[in-house]
Amino acid sequence: MKKVTYRTPDELKLLTNKTWQETSAFVKKLKKKKPKNLDDTVHELHVEAFATFNCLDCANCCKTIGPRLIDKDIERLAKHLKMKVSDFTDQYILTDEDGDYVFKDHPCPFLLPDNYCMVYENRPRACREYPHTDRKRFYQILPLSHKNCETCPVVHEVFEELKLRNW
Ligand code: SF4
Ligand code: SF4
Repeated sequence: MKKVTYRTPDELKLLTNKTWQETSAFVKKLKKKKPKNLDDTVHELHVEAFATFNCLDCANCCKTIGPRLIDKDIERLAKHLKMKVSDFTDQYILTDEDGDYVFKDHPCPFLLPDNYCMVYENRPRACREYPHTDRKRFYQILPLSHKNCETCPVVHEVFEELKLRNW
């Protein structure tokens, strides 16, 4: 696998758009085929990628998309900041057009200038799980992950490598 290098969201969007149709056809094929070794392959690529790339050199996800939050995330974050849940919600949360709780602002209000997360031990579940390249049944989130190529340099590289494999 090629070494992951940092790219801005604008650069990633351009690259992803250039190959959108080709990658969409590939995603469709994999979704239909559900290869047995897909999870193992993606997990290996995930480990390889993060062995050479540090999220602290990036933070694109924290800067541009932010997590969806569940009630437990909000309670945990409010407790971490020693705030009442209602005050925390008023200050930081809004409900988006899909009815999901999200942070009001981007970059995330808890992202520090050096790309560290101010609430790391109590960060939302979605932040822990992103970019999902280590989860099971990867075929279920192929279209979502294709979209994530616009944000995450690791996902972008994982997809580029996946397309080179013989499926
Ligand atoms: S809570 Fe932390 S990990 Fe999650 S988006 Fe904000 S800065 Fe990033
Ligand atoms: S998960 Fe991806 S987008 Fe987020 S900081 Fe790490 S490499 Fe960047």
